[in-house]
Amino acid sequence: MLDLQTISLISQLKCPNCGTSYSHLTVQTVCQNPDCLSSLYSEYDLPDGLIPEQLLAGRPTNMWRYQEFLPVVDPANIVTLGEGFTPILPLKNLKGFAEENEVFWKDESGNPTGSFKARGISAAVSKAKELGITNIVTPTAGNAGGALAAYCASAGITAHVYMPKLTPNIFKDECRLYGAVLTEVDGNISDCGRIANEKAVANDWFQVSTLKEPYRLEGKKTMGYEIAEQLGWSLPDVILYPTGGGTGLLGIWKAFDEMEGLGWIGSKRPRMVAVQSNSCDGITQAFHQKKTYSEAIDNGFTIANGLRVPKPYADKLILKVLRESNGNAISINDCEMEAALKEIAFREGMLFAPEGAALWQAFKKLKATNWIQTGERVLLLNTGSGYKYLENISI
Ligand SMILES: *Cc1c(COP(=O)(O)O)cnc(C)c1O
Ligand SMILES: [Zn+2]
Repeated sequence: MLDLQTISLISQLKCPNCGTSYSHLTVQTVCQNPDCLSSLYSEYDLPDGLIPEQLLAGRPTNMWRYQEFLPVVDPANIVTLGEGFTPILPLKNLKGFAEENEVFWKDESGNPTGSFKARGISAAVSKAKELGITNIVTPTAGNAGGALAAYCASAGITAHVYMPKLTPNIFKDECRLYGAVLTEVDGNISDCGRIANEKAVANDWFQVSTLKEPYRLEGKKTMGYEIAEQLGWSLPDVILYPTGGGTGLLGIWKAFDEMEGLGWIGSKRPRMVAVQSNSCDGITQAFHQKKTYSEAIDNGFTIANGLRVPKPYADKLILKVLRESNGNAISINDCEMEAALKEIAFREGMLFAPEGAALWQAFKKLKATNWIQTGERVLLLNTGSGYKYLENISI
């Protein structure tokens, strides 16, 4: 019988590309093999005979309810603002469009700082605290910076945030209010990443840039655990995910593998769909060209800040999940996103981030071509609150 007080079951980090192992007890970034440089994945001991209903009964309704499968060894290091365990809501007044499909939103907009970035940053900042880190830096399209600023304020760590000048002011103001050191950059997130990296190297700051730090992935994977738990340990047929750096898509997929290892779910998987902005749709193009990596694509401003990622660091891992799941990739333009955002607000009473609203257009398109078939259960992930994007929307 497993001691239910056991906290993290993490054993090591492993490179999913070349298989090299790393310790989770020292600071890690990416695979150190110079020919590889892949993102690293956390590995856990996955014991038989754990009954999820027993393990999770009475646990807090935030993502740390899955603490065995999160990387923090000493619970005193957990930095939480109540992130996760967000609701799954069935489509209501828009059901007419969904004809014979069960469609759900998993709504991440109620997370601290208004987006699902809170999950990844909660895990990363907690582990950084455990490892004694005092300065953290990130490039951001907006939401990651706000989340980092908030969790660092709570942890007593200094946050350094590099954000494109063209980001709506609210994303900058929240960073300042949470006490982060904010630098506005004349450029896109890749430019922010380059400058953040120079500063980090010069000052010995720890970088939590998407998938160059191992634990944001672990925080975001809790969406996968929640989807299974909240749907009674049965997975949807299709999951649509707004893909910038791809952390959530990879995390959800990793959670499914872990839960299968635990015997909590079977081997059947949802088909995973990457939804992108046509401003930065390198993954969509690479997927349809059957390539294993993506090119850098940046066609400029999009109202979906979080999707302005010209070339995700983990492009190969993302494309592999899309292929393995028999998934798909689709891009949506700003005009379509804004129309969807308004339609969802007007009909459903929910004000979504443009990134999340994009999924509604993607759903309708995939349904029109019959790629989503009658009777299939579809989960759409709204990743953030529309309240932060009002400057980007014409009312
Ligand atoms: C960051 C972000 C995304 C993209 O998430 P990735 O994990 O980087 O793919 C989507 N939506 C919102 C609201 C975001 O802030
Ligand atoms: Zn490697």
